[in-house]
Amino acid sequence: MNTERAIIIGGGIAGLLAAKVLSGFYGEVVIVDRDAFPREPENRPGTPQAYQPHRFTPRSRLILNRMFPGLIDELIRHGAHPARGTKAHLHNPYGSMTTVEQSHDATFSRALFEWVIRGYIQRTTNIRLLGMNDVTHLQTSEDRSRVTGIVLRERVSGDRKRSMMTADLIVDASGRFSKAVQWLNELGYQVPRPERLKIDLGYSTRRYRIPAGRKDELDTIRIEGDPFAATHAGAFSIIENDVAEMVLWNLNGRYPSTEPALFEQEIRQLGNPLLNDALRGLEPIGQPRGFRVLELSRQHFEQMPQWPSGLLVMGDAFCQLDPVYGQGMTLAAIEAEVLEECIRRQLEQPRPRFELETLQRLQDNIEVAWWLNVVSDLRWRGVEHSGAQPLQGVTFAQNYFDHILKWSTENANHEILGLYWLINSLFLSPQELFHADRVADLMAAGGSGEAKQWLDRWIEESDRPLVERLSRAIPSFEGAAFATLDQLMHSS
Ligand SMILES: Cc1cc2nc3c(=O)[nH]c(=O)nc-3n(C[C@H](O)[C@H](O)[C@H](O)COP(=O)(O)OP(=O)(O)OC[C@H]3O[C@@H](n4cnc5c(N)ncnc54)[C@H](O)[C@@H]3O)c2cc1C
Repeated sequence: MNTERAIIIGGGIAGLLAAKVLSGFYGEVVIVDRDAFPREPENRPGTPQAYQPHRFTPRSRLILNRMFPGLIDELIRHGAHPARGTKAHLHNPYGSMTTVEQSHDATFSRALFEWVIRGYIQRTTNIRLLGMNDVTHLQTSEDRSRVTGIVLRERVSGDRKRSMMTADLIVDASGRFSKAVQWLNELGYQVPRPERLKIDLGYSTRRYRIPAGRKDELDTIRIEGDPFAATHAGAFSIIENDVAEMVLWNLNGRYPSTEPALFEQEIRQLGNPLLNDALRGLEPIGQPRGFRVLELSRQHFEQMPQWPSGLLVMGDAFCQLDPVYGQGMTLAAIEAEVLEECIRRQLEQPRPRFELETLQRLQDNIEVAWWLNVVSDLRWRGVEHSGAQPLQGVTFAQNYFDHILKWSTENANHEILGLYWLINSLFLSPQELFHADRVADLMAAGGSGEAKQWLDRWIEESDRPLVERLSRAIPSFEGAAFATLDQLMHSS
């Protein structure tokens, strides 16, 4: 494997993280983006989702602290809000809980986060950032079996000059509008139909300036949506430099308003006194801004019998997740670690199917997040999943997760709620909650006995012991990489 130059298409989060990893193996790494890279933390046209809240998770913190030592301090130095000791009030349809952040963490906007990461990248001597260039095509060997470079179109000059750049590896990290499928089709490759999840999600976000003296009394507030009542969900948090943000979201076309008075009214309709108190006296910065996601797609590149060597796909270009669960950047970080491991192995022991094997490893990790998204979103009326195969275990997981959420909230069981959150933020495997003993214990918990009766009926349907029924029903997620609770303890 030649390691002279790698090109990354797209300088968003997945692209930056891939570049960092590849810089350890390749002589030169070039990140090409259609946008100019802003000198200050600013939103860019190429990442229109960036104004909306971007949550960071313990798993991404773990991975990124390793890649970028001192990251949290660097974010705080540039205005991010230090999170240790802050309170979060979490409301779901079953009740409320308050947690206190124990870790050295921070909250921030996506623009600040990307800018700080890009700062680390700019200080990496063998990474070059090439902005204002659209990648329009892939270059290949004559027989089209190998991708050898990219065709670029400059966006600075009026004449939109075209040029070519060759590389030993090209990673498409160009996000949800990636042209990978189109390029592969043009080269004669048959790309399987992606899985889709039609969600018709609407976000509406407004920012507020925090007056002097108010910051210390503002906590994070998160109000989960109720799939059965189809009410809006919302979240309030400080981001950076005395600015807070409030987002409302809903699925199936019930978009929150972007008209200021209606937006504020919809917040009041959530009926949460803590939220109303928090927003009192904050000064709105401009109008609320909306963002819509009609559907999510998960590609299955790893299933292709033929794949051109020299090409990989990562991040949202491979699979987009429901932003409500805040997993996209975490998945990008996990994928970067997978890429690092696959390249290292390839250099030690070259294999002819390196790209397809790497795509499979990425897919193993995508599967976890996608499965969790589908399980959760299919509880909402109007959400539809389509794919070559139905996903395994959805109904069981929905009933089980709903019961866990209800029971642990009503009983203020922080351990189980914490476990549920660590699974949903891709830190631990969902299998942590699907051991037969744990399923039996948790489904028996709670006064009414309803969940236990449901479980008994489910077991009876197949006449198999619970252990066997679970192992058939729930994916094993064996190929995915997870972290450990021990790592969580030592990550703060
Ligand atoms: C509303 C919303 C809220 C979200 N909230 C969260 C959250 O709370 N937490 C979380 O972890 N994730 C969140 N996400 C997901 C997150 O934004 C992405 O998953 C994450 O940024 C990884 O994306 P990416 O790097 O693959 O693509 P992007 O960040 O979209 O970057 C793609 C880049 O490619 C460039 N590009 C595109 N085409 C070309 C081309 N042809 N040539 C050159 N450059 C090109 C673009 O300019 C852009 O810079 C949210 C997403 C949305 C839509």
